[in-house]
Amino acid sequence: MNIPMKPELEQILLSRKIQPTAMRLLVLEELSRVNMAVSLNELEASFDKADRVTLYRSLKTFRKHKLVHSIEDGSGSLKYALCEEDCECKPEELHAHFHCNKCNATFCLKDYHLPVSGLPRRFVLEEMNLVLKGLCDACSA
Ligand SMILES: [Zn+2]
Ligand SMILES: [Zn+2]
Ligand SMILES: [Zn+2]
Repeated sequence: MNIPMKPELEQILLSRKIQPTAMRLLVLEELSRVNMAVSLNELEASFDKADRVTLYRSLKTFRKHKLVHSIEDGSGSLKYALCEEDCECKPEELHAHFHCNKCNATFCLKDYHLPVSGLPRRFVLEEMNLVLKGLCDACSA
């Protein structure tokens, strides 16, 4: 996956109505670079001098504007991954995730959509969290 250049990163933020601050650009760049879901701790570890609160706020802003979605992968910390360009984070847009039991990485399975039909009457779906677990390509080799 290509890492977008700065003007593109700015454009991505603006298209989500997020003011492109220096820190938000860095966080977006990092999320694009790793191409997997990251926790706040992992994000913090990849920055030399960024305070945790600022990082956390950036992630929260990103999530509110549907630039990222969050995943509970069972590792104990919430992880965040970039959404597809036009994602509105609706249940029918949700996809499954894959968690590697060995390296603890979590990946979006973007083509693995979840069934949203078959709910009992008057049940309203708001979230769905399907995590497949096993070994990622690097760990299964
Ligand atoms: Zn989304
Ligand atoms: Zn792995
Ligand atoms: Zn995902």
